[in-house]
Amino acid sequence: MTPSITKIELAQPDLGGNELRYVQECIESGWISSHGRFIADFESAFAQFAGSRFAVATNNGTTALHLALVALGIGPGDEVLVPTVTFVATANAVTYCGATPVLVDVEPGTLNIDLADARSKVTDRTKCIIPVHLYGIPADVAGLRALCAETGILMVEDAAEAHGAMVDTVPVGSFGDAAVFSFFGNKIMTTGEGGIVTTDDPELAERLRLYRGQGMDSQRRYWFPVVGYNYRMTNIQAAIGLAQLERIGELIDARRVIDLRYREALRGIGDVFELSVVPNNVVAVPWLFNVFLRDGDAELRDRVSAAMLSDGVDTRPIFRPMHQLPPYLDHGQFPVADDWSQRGITLPLHTAMSGDDVDRVVATLVRSTRDQSARAQ
Ligand SMILES: *Cc1c(COP(=O)(O)O)cnc(C)c1O
Repeated sequence: MTPSITKIELAQPDLGGNELRYVQECIESGWISSHGRFIADFESAFAQFAGSRFAVATNNGTTALHLALVALGIGPGDEVLVPTVTFVATANAVTYCGATPVLVDVEPGTLNIDLADARSKVTDRTKCIIPVHLYGIPADVAGLRALCAETGILMVEDAAEAHGAMVDTVPVGSFGDAAVFSFFGNKIMTTGEGGIVTTDDPELAERLRLYRGQGMDSQRRYWFPVVGYNYRMTNIQAAIGLAQLERIGELIDARRVIDLRYREALRGIGDVFELSVVPNNVVAVPWLFNVFLRDGDAELRDRVSAAMLSDGVDTRPIFRPMHQLPPYLDHGQFPVADDWSQRGITLPLHTAMSGDDVDRVVATLVRSTRDQSARAQ
């Protein structure tokens, strides 16, 4: 029997501001493709938000990553360090360049790239490192910058899940040679599909624009000095993005309230679950909410998730480490990634959730874990 309660989705967009009005303006004016006032407005507003001089908007976060790597000159024969726990797009973008992603283990607690392991994997061919601010927790940018200074490699931050996160008081997206954000529908802010690259380097910004727009020279129409791509964002996407950005503080605050409620509701049961660890010097943005079974494996985790779904709560496993996936199989040592990823469950977090919803998710989690652990014995 299906209980007559509404399902709590993992994520859902919050489009309650000027989104509709701005999209209507696009349609009424006919500017629905990749020309129009919203694109430049959105780029400059986002650059300011991310603490960068320039922002170049794209049609999604994956193309933003690819574009950043192309514009930085990453190509065949190059190696790029990537944490093994991330969404697969981080590694795929490296592969698109003909370069090789070299997978790095992660730290316990944050699941962000492990600096010591990264350092041990630098070779003569290493050109770049892509730290991911995973689930909204900033990576160790000070350590990463020191590593880049020491070795002469470039840094592209993958901030796809971390809009508004800060290290001390400096926003992520301003630490690398370039940074990338995603605006997919389940991210901190959305444009439907969409992405953006930020940088302080005017020449890099120019190259990003060149490669984004089919490689057409900005001074000479239909002159193509390089092979570019069509990675442009539409005016409709930018219209939604501008409306989201007007309310970004509100959107992030609403997420913080939910994150805190989870932490309070889970406080009494620390013997069953571990939570992510947020370092002292950073301000994380809560993307989704992760819990890690102290005592369990992927099999128990999947049974807990299935039981929660039948109680109307959508969850998903933590990203599966890429060294376990067919295109990136790597039999090296990734002990932290192997251990933490198989125990991790991602819980719903979005601005339409009420406090009662959070309590219902936690009650369902606790009950399902108790039932399924008992079955395992
Ligand atoms: C979402 C995401 C991307 C890709 O963004 P899309 O907009 O979905 O293409 C890249 N990296 C990470 C870490 C992500 O979470």
